[in-house]
Amino acid sequence: MTRPEIGLADIQAARSRIAPHIVPLRITPSASLSRQFDKEILLAHEYLQTTGAFKLRGAMNSVLQLEPGTTGVTAVSTGNHGRALAYSARQAGVPCIICMSELVPQNKLEAIRALGAETRIFGKSQDEAEVEAKRLVNEEGYTMIPPFEHPHVIAGQGTLGLEMLEQVPDLDTVLVQLSGGGLVSGIALAIKLQKPDVRIVAISMERGCAMYASQQAGKPVEVEELPTLADSLGGGIGLDNRLTFGIVHDYVDQLVLLGEEEIADGIRHAYFNEQVILEGGGAVGIGALLAGKVTPGNKTIVLLSGKNIDMELHRKIVNHEDYEL
Ligand SMILES: *Cc1c(COP(=O)(O)O)cnc(C)c1O
Repeated sequence: MTRPEIGLADIQAARSRIAPHIVPLRITPSASLSRQFDKEILLAHEYLQTTGAFKLRGAMNSVLQLEPGTTGVTAVSTGNHGRALAYSARQAGVPCIICMSELVPQNKLEAIRALGAETRIFGKSQDEAEVEAKRLVNEEGYTMIPPFEHPHVIAGQGTLGLEMLEQVPDLDTVLVQLSGGGLVSGIALAIKLQKPDVRIVAISMERGCAMYASQQAGKPVEVEELPTLADSLGGGIGLDNRLTFGIVHDYVDQLVLLGEEEIADGIRHAYFNEQVILEGGGAVGIGALLAGKVTPGNKTIVLLSGKNIDMELHRKIVNHEDYEL
């Protein structure tokens, strides 16, 4: 089960490389969840990261290892990766063009522009937006920094696993969100290469989880992209996926899918019981516990991966009002 592309040393190197640019992970006990499940449940508050989501770790680790002489960086993004890359590029003084589909919420698009990057809206899916990004690479000398399928990105996200294990050496279960799988791949490698018995549970939404469908099929497949509260978990894994499909297969113990109401429950619990504002994707760990779809271990860390939600949508969810996506 070793993967030469990304080892523990790569993740450790990523950690020193990005340390000056990132906010360390904050982990706190959840009194309400620990009481409810009669187990020790801890929350990992990565939504506190600069740009509001963990993706800064992978993006920064990639930008800090760019080939000299590159024109700039580009990416296809549902929002948080684009935002992270824009921030990283500005830090490194590199031009940045973010390509995205029409499904991206307005608040995320504006946040990327505010970070000084150029934005290009292209098509109705990540795959269509990718055509433009590839053109920038082939015709204008940009370097594509993908949101998950790259060793530097996975190693960057894996730094979260190092911080979890360092702060909670006796953790036995980790709940991580899943989309393209860069996040859970990095965390699973960082933890299991040191403690193989820790259980890694990956959580996504029922409405269009390409990694789940791919694992079922035994190879990368496409699924229809559907509007979901967990918009940051949307998108395909790439039919030519070489990295995260295999790492998820080998290192993730359980895949769990949530319905929209279960995701909304996670957002509401975070708000009313933890005083935390989360985006849908950030809240699926809590949602999975509340839905009874994951049994907590004796010491469980629930990753809260991002907070970039439209606040009007958030208000409607916590008030149980009808909402449109
Ligand atoms: C991108 C993202 C994820 C999923 O990460 P993958 O590496 O694509 O699996 C989870 N939560 C948030 C907030 C994200 O932005």
